[in-house]
Amino acid sequence: MEGKDLVIIGAGPIGLACGIEAQKAGLSYIILEKGCLVNSIYHYPLNMTFFSTSERLEIGNVPFISSSPKPTRSEALEYYRRVCTSWKLNVKLYEKVEAVKKEDRLFLIKTAKYNYQAKAVILALGFYDLPYLLDVEGEALPKVKHYYDEPHPYFGQKVAVIGAANSAVDVALETWRKGAEVTMIIRESSIRESVKYWVKPDIENRIKEGSIKAFFDSEVIRITPGTIEISTPVGNEILENDFVLAMTGYQPPFDFMKSMGITFHDDEYNTPVYDEETMESNVTGLYLGGVVCGGLKTNKWFIENSRVHAEIIISDLQRKMVVK
Ligand SMILES: Cc1cc2nc3c(=O)[nH]c(=O)nc-3n(C[C@H](O)[C@H](O)[C@H](O)COP(=O)(O)OP(=O)(O)OC[C@H]3O[C@@H](n4cnc5c(N)ncnc54)[C@H](O)[C@@H]3O)c2cc1C
Repeated sequence: MEGKDLVIIGAGPIGLACGIEAQKAGLSYIILEKGCLVNSIYHYPLNMTFFSTSERLEIGNVPFISSSPKPTRSEALEYYRRVCTSWKLNVKLYEKVEAVKKEDRLFLIKTAKYNYQAKAVILALGFYDLPYLLDVEGEALPKVKHYYDEPHPYFGQKVAVIGAANSAVDVALETWRKGAEVTMIIRESSIRESVKYWVKPDIENRIKEGSIKAFFDSEVIRITPGTIEISTPVGNEILENDFVLAMTGYQPPFDFMKSMGITFHDDEYNTPVYDEETMESNVTGLYLGGVVCGGLKTNKWFIENSRVHAEIIISDLQRKMVVK
């Protein structure tokens, strides 16, 4: 069993930032990642552009140069690879953490490959692994996708896009521009206010002119190989359909967090309990960093406003002498 001062779970931007701070502080640490480096970003749509400008995504004082002010997914992948190599971070990829248990004052971390012991643990788990399901008949059909990669497969196809937030809007516009026949099914009565201000008029005008069809106050009831049945304010409708792109959002791994003893506020977002001054959870020595801190409020934390968690956590660790 390998012993460390600190185990960081998740090699997203915030897990990497925590590794950098730990290294600067002289702590022995390891970052454990179940997939590839910055696994969530790797799974974002291929043509995605960040809404943040590149300098706001920087960590560890490594400059992020991109060809336009807002970087693309592939520029971000290249950037975080470079951060990892220039800081020589101790990252183990493709090693999923299956359990974290506190025994006495030490944490036992069990992965698919090894066991580790640590004096402190940071959970930088993100929220991109568990999509909200539609929970309707036919959802398991191969034509139903909860992740979107690129528009080409949808050329000439009847595509239903479910949702009204940024991802759904981006997917509807991109697939329509590449030749899909797009219908949006939207539970609310309008496109979300939180949609990027430079994109919102685009989708609203495409809907107004009828290029993209939209059913508001409507929900999916059933999916079959050739159709989608929806409820609308004027009754149920059955639409011909080839693909369903369910862009209904994602949620943090609550069960995994609960299994470690983390408790949650009784609020609408199921916000995990942590001290905002230190990022320490209700379990002493177990810290939360990055977007996982927002619970179901997945638009509260981003890379740009949560990269500071790394410094806060490591200075608290040093101050409390949890790690000697
Ligand atoms: C389409 C899209 C666009 C975005 N654009 C922006 C933007 O422009 N600006 C911005 O600031 N933010 C943006 N965000 C948000 C931002 O990308 C994410 O918030 C960011 O990736 C969060 O970083 P993180 O390190 O907290 O979590 P993540 O990047 O999600 O990293 C979590 C990591 O933990 C790993 N993991 C999970 N469970 C385990 C386990 N059991 N064992 C081991 N590893 C595990 C995951 O594989 C993942 O690599 C965007 C998000 C999306 C979805």
